[in-house]
Amino acid sequence: MALRVRTAVRGFVNPLKCVLRSSAAATSKRGYAAAVAEARVVLENELDGIRAAGTWKGERIITSQQGPHISVDGSRGSILNFCANNYLGLSSHPDVIQAGIEALQTHGAGLSSVRFICGTQDIHKNLEQKLAQFHEREDCILYASCFDANAGLFEVLMGPDDAILSDELNHASIIDGIRLCRAKKFRYKHMDLSDLETKLKESQSSRMRLVVTDGVFSMDGDVAPLPAICDLAEQYGAMVFIDECHATGFLGPRGRGTDELLGVMDRVQIVNSTLGKALGGAAGGYTVGPKPLIDLLRQRSRPYLFSNSLPPPVVGCATRAVDLLLASNEIAQSMTAKTMRFRNRMTEAGFTISGTAHPISPVMLGEAKLASLMADDMLKLGVYVVGFSFPVVPKGKARIRVQISAAHTNEDIDRCVDAFIQTGRKHGVVS
Ligand code: PLP
Repeated sequence: MALRVRTAVRGFVNPLKCVLRSSAAATSKRGYAAAVAEARVVLENELDGIRAAGTWKGERIITSQQGPHISVDGSRGSILNFCANNYLGLSSHPDVIQAGIEALQTHGAGLSSVRFICGTQDIHKNLEQKLAQFHEREDCILYASCFDANAGLFEVLMGPDDAILSDELNHASIIDGIRLCRAKKFRYKHMDLSDLETKLKESQSSRMRLVVTDGVFSMDGDVAPLPAICDLAEQYGAMVFIDECHATGFLGPRGRGTDELLGVMDRVQIVNSTLGKALGGAAGGYTVGPKPLIDLLRQRSRPYLFSNSLPPPVVGCATRAVDLLLASNEIAQSMTAKTMRFRNRMTEAGFTISGTAHPISPVMLGEAKLASLMADDMLKLGVYVVGFSFPVVPKGKARIRVQISAAHTNEDIDRCVDAFIQTGRKHGVVS
């Protein structure tokens, strides 16, 4: 029994490893209760360390649907929400909800299986085909999340003879996915083309090379310089991968993403993205790219092979979301107009907003305490925004990250800006 507890705990808390290992012999004598008590002390110490470092992440409890107006436990009335990745407002779109209900009724709550045993339904194949069409790629494979898609890709594609060149600010799931693979790893400075070129030269002897970047970086809303990245990749014989979680559905003239926005859809070989943000916001992720790659992922990708199929209601919601986007780009355009309204009014008021034209609109404040105090004051005015500070963003670059949705009205945007001006004046950020 003690052994079983040790094994279960070992997987997720590093500091326990040494304590448990050093006391392994004694454990059998002291028994199960003492080992568990000791583990509890180690965990409490870790938690105290997080609190002391000021990096504790609290969770507000929402008691309504996700949307621009939400109810939050402990706050009275409706709160204006500016911190969801609900870029197109589809998380609570009536058609999307209805499609989820219908899929639940026709295809059930879940598959109780992975895809290759008995977990593939017609609706999974249909959604994969639609996503491939949407991204104009040969084929698509669904995962339970984009975290899984990133965790499952690199290990399959890249071996010890290959090299991965990855932007230093790529998402955690990309970093973890790359850790899992045996390719040589090169980390280039954030969006630094000359450093990327240096790394491409250094890795020239590798069999295959893959440049890996977020299309949009979620902390700053900055867009990767894809045309120049593709130029370098072509010059040095490398492929390009992008993570489009913060672009799919709304960047580019038809909302296809960063590659469409920057005119390189035919020069980026592999795209991973999520169903958990603009495309209905439920859950799920996917890879689109060349058919042999997708076929190989179905054979070898561990998060795909060893995790349950996406539940039918989730598939139903996402399919409807993609259908809405294939039919019209009106929603994406309305989000862009609102983004520019927010960015322009805030800049006029004297705030510094990072990034350009992306709905991720970080209000740069510098000090961690200021970001957290201002976010609290904004909530008192009925506007829900979140302050980000070190270690999530670099020291001295604390900010409040505002995210605009197509579902916000112009009045919502104006109320948010007015609340920023009021709290910004209180804290001496603007005059
Ligand atoms: N990649 C990026 C850039 C993200 O921002 C996220 C989510 O925060 C993910 C991957 C993971 O997506 P999912 O929520 O579908 O696992």
